[in-house]
Amino acid sequence: MAKQPMLKFVTTQREMPAKREADVRNRDFAEIYAEYADQKAKEQASRCSQCGVPYCQSHCPLHNNIPDWLNLTATGRLQEAYEISQATNTFPEICGRICPQDRLCEGNCVIEQSGHGTVTIGSVEKYITDTAWEEGWVKPAAPEVERKESVGIIGAGPGGLAAADMLRRAGVQVTVYDRYDRSGGLLTYGIPGFKLEKEVVMRRNKQLEAGGVRFVMNCSVGEDMSFEEIRAQHDAVIIATGVYKSRDLGGPGAGAKGIVKAIDYLTASNRVANFGDTVAEYDSGELNAKGKKVVVIGGGDTAMDCVRTAIRQGAESVKCLYRRDRANMPGSQREVQNAEEEGVQFEWLTAPAGFKSGEADAVDSVIVQKMRLGAPDASGRQSPEVIEGSDYDEPADLVIKALGFEPEELPTLWGCPELEVTRWGTVKAQFTSGRTALEGVYAVGDIVRGASLVVWAIRDGRDCAEAILGDLNSRAAAIAAE
Ligand code: FAD
Ligand code: SF4
Ligand code: SF4
Repeated sequence: MAKQPMLKFVTTQREMPAKREADVRNRDFAEIYAEYADQKAKEQASRCSQCGVPYCQSHCPLHNNIPDWLNLTATGRLQEAYEISQATNTFPEICGRICPQDRLCEGNCVIEQSGHGTVTIGSVEKYITDTAWEEGWVKPAAPEVERKESVGIIGAGPGGLAAADMLRRAGVQVTVYDRYDRSGGLLTYGIPGFKLEKEVVMRRNKQLEAGGVRFVMNCSVGEDMSFEEIRAQHDAVIIATGVYKSRDLGGPGAGAKGIVKAIDYLTASNRVANFGDTVAEYDSGELNAKGKKVVVIGGGDTAMDCVRTAIRQGAESVKCLYRRDRANMPGSQREVQNAEEEGVQFEWLTAPAGFKSGEADAVDSVIVQKMRLGAPDASGRQSPEVIEGSDYDEPADLVIKALGFEPEELPTLWGCPELEVTRWGTVKAQFTSGRTALEGVYAVGDIVRGASLVVWAIRDGRDCAEAILGDLNSRAAAIAAE
């Protein structure tokens, strides 16, 4: 009888790829996890129990065929594992690195639930596609038939690029417009290199270009080109612009120098540390934590990225203020642990009440209020309440606001009041197709969902591409029948 290659979770412990030591990794922007060695990837994949109803798959937004690619990896059939993995995911190696797996696939793995430690799904997914790149199995789009129809995509983040890839593979002429100089959206300028090295994103950009996707960079729609011009040039348009308006803080002294937005801070760091760009605000110290007492306000993934960036820039101290406790923070627990190991101090149940300034109106401390958790709100989460009289001053010469993002007002900015938005300002679109009420206009990713995840943006982009292909085919059939 053939030897059973799977179900090894009883005898084989869960093992993540090696993590670099905190006092080494906190000095650079390289990724902190190594790649699995071939044998280790096989071994870890073989822990899967090949569930008949795989909860990992149903909790993956892309419904990746996880049990099959784990089996193929465990049995050394890596190229087939790659084919299956890429059939449902445009950027598997990116999701393998940065999906919050503890809340998605891995958090729902049955062997995790039974106390054996989850299958390391994300790390195996990353391993499969990184190997595919090394082996030359990842190919640019090479459509067998070129179609005449063209689609314009506004926004080169994961949502826009996932749609671009699928449309181009079907032979559609695709042009992507973006206001930045490099493609990738938040993959390039938001998420730091220690979570996602930029070469991983850039090689995808090159692959799309090699497959015939046209990029028009440094083009801010609404300023350099109007939305109507883009609509006039294409058979369909996808809005994939993400959400970039930072939520702000009020309170006395909130306008002092040295209080900055997380997105500005992270973009500057990504440019300097990963691309070697010159950024004046970084050189002047405005967006640079070196030698400073840094306070980051917020408890989401953006806040985690800021604290860990500040450590790497050589801050004197880095503290994170969050108004709820550790168990109730929105950011990934894995990232909190990484941050703590690297030297970040968390001040749970605290919130800023204001800021004090010193010379030249530069911030020199945050007035911090202590909080406690009160009754649950409408969402079921316990609301934080101020503990009166608990204020204290926290010294700070750089304060980073990481309180989340909202959509920009596209109908106003683009002079297109017919573009319908929700009361939160997100574009109204069908979740399964991205269709908006405007003929030929679709929308995907964060601009529809509000600040979300890369894997959901990919899912939206793929669904939307499929809907557009269906709509283009119906139109072509109707014309042919006339
Ligand atoms: P984006 O990635 O935001 O891309 C939108 C693109 O549109 C940008 O390139 C922008 O320049 C362009 N654009 C905007 N307006 C215009 C215009 N008028 N004209 C032309 N171009 C325009 N998700 C995870 O899954 N894991 C993580 O670890 C994670 N970490 C994050 C860390 C940070 C700091 C942030 C801010 C977000 C993080 N996210 C993470 C969320 C994730 O990055 C987003 O959900 C995802 O990038 C959304 O994709 P998108 O394509 O909708 O938009
Ligand atoms: Fe898990 Fe994300 Fe990969 Fe899905 S795409 S299997 S959620 S890491
Ligand atoms: Fe394998 Fe876990 Fe998915 Fe079951 S839930 S198929 S054990 S990875």
